[in-house]
Amino acid sequence: MPDSPADSPVIPARQPSMPAGAPPPSCTCGAPLFRENTTCLRCRALVGFLPDQGWLLSFTALPDGTFTNSHPSLQNRVYKTCANRTAAPQCNWMIATSDAGQPCLSCSLTRTTPNPAVPEAAARWTAAEHAKRHVLIQLLRHRLPVRSRHTHPDGVWFDFLQPLPGGPPVLTGHQRGLITINLSEADPAQRALIQEKMGESYRTLTGHMRHELAHYYWERFSTDAAWLQQCRSVFGDDRQDYAAALATHHRQGPPPQWASRFISAYASSHPWEDWAETFAHYLHMDEALHTAQRLGLDLRRLKLRTDSFDHAALFPSSPAADPAFLDTIDRWVLLSLTANEINAALGHPLAYPFILNSSIVTKLHAIHQSFQHFAAPPMASPLPPNDPAAGTHR
Ligand SMILES: [Zn+2]
Ligand SMILES: [Zn+2]
Ligand SMILES: [Zn+2]
Repeated sequence: MPDSPADSPVIPARQPSMPAGAPPPSCTCGAPLFRENTTCLRCRALVGFLPDQGWLLSFTALPDGTFTNSHPSLQNRVYKTCANRTAAPQCNWMIATSDAGQPCLSCSLTRTTPNPAVPEAAARWTAAEHAKRHVLIQLLRHRLPVRSRHTHPDGVWFDFLQPLPGGPPVLTGHQRGLITINLSEADPAQRALIQEKMGESYRTLTGHMRHELAHYYWERFSTDAAWLQQCRSVFGDDRQDYAAALATHHRQGPPPQWASRFISAYASSHPWEDWAETFAHYLHMDEALHTAQRLGLDLRRLKLRTDSFDHAALFPSSPAADPAFLDTIDRWVLLSLTANEINAALGHPLAYPFILNSSIVTKLHAIHQSFQHFAAPPMASPLPPNDPAAGTHR
C-alpha cells in the first residue's frame, strides 16, 4: 500500500480486466466456452485453462498426445493436460510438456484429499476443487502470489477433509499457510442447515475459499510494516486477543448497528475477520464484474440511476484519487441491483443481500489498494516460444 496519497498508483479510469490480445471466450468453432468446460459442447475439442496466460481455450490434439492452440502468441507452444483431469478434481488446467504427469498449479496446492471410502466424499471434493480453481484464476488475474507450500515455504496448501460419524469435528480455517476445508460445506443440504443456524444466507464454498485465503494473504502482507500500520487504521488493531474476541462474539453476538461499519456480523468479531470478510467481498464483486465485462455486458446502458460514492469514501482519503475504484463501485451497484431484480423475477432470493455504505467502501478500497501494492509486475512481453512454463506463478 502506498505510504502517502501522492504515491497512489496511476491507473486508467476503466481498469482493463482482460490482458491485451486475450482471445474471446469461445471455441475456434464459435461455440461459447464456460469456465469449467473440459470439452467444447459443439465440436468436442479439448478445452483447457492456461494459468500463465489466464485464458480458457480449445485445443487441437497432436499425435504425440500434446495439445496446441493457433492463437498468435501461443504458436510453437505445446501443452499437456493436468494429471487430475479425469480424477475427482476434474481439473481443466493445462501444464507445460516438461511437467507431464504432474498436477497443475491449482492441484499442487492440495495437500490432503478426503477418504475415498466415504461415499459422498468424491463429489464434494470435486466441488471444492472447482471453487478453488475459480478463486485462484481470479488471484492470478490480479497477479497476487499463488505458490504451493509443497515447493515454497511461504506458499499455501489445502486439506479437504470429510468429517466421519463419531469422529472429531473438522473446522474450516487457516493456520500458517494451511487452509482446512470441511467438505460438508460442499453438500447443498448441509450448507443450507449451517446457513440457517449461523444466519449467514450468503455462505458458499467459493466464499470460504476467498475468506480463508484472505487470512493467508494477511499473514504474508503483514511483514510489510507500513502496510500493516495503514490497515490497522481501517480494520482496527489485530493485536487484540483473537480467541477472546471470537468467544465474546459467539456469546454476545455483534455490536448494535454493526451494519453501519461492517460487511457482515462476523466481520465485527476481530480485525482479522473484518479483513477476511471484506477481502472475500471484494473478490465477489470483482469476479462478478469481470464476468459481466468478459461477456460484453455494458452496464452503463442499463436503465438504472444510482447515487455514487465520492473520494471521501476512499482510503487513504485523497482529492481526486482513484477514479477507477469509484467506477468499479458504481458499476457493482448497477450490476447487483440488476442481478437482484432478475433473481426476483425468477422467484429466487436476492443475489446480493447487502447495502454498501461509505465505511464499507473505505475498507473495500483498502483491499483494492493492497492488491495493487502486492501485485507482481505485468509480463513485459509475450511468452517466448518453447518455454511453456515462463511466467507461471509458482
Ligand atoms: Zn468447438
Ligand atoms: Zn489440476
Ligand atoms: Zn476467518
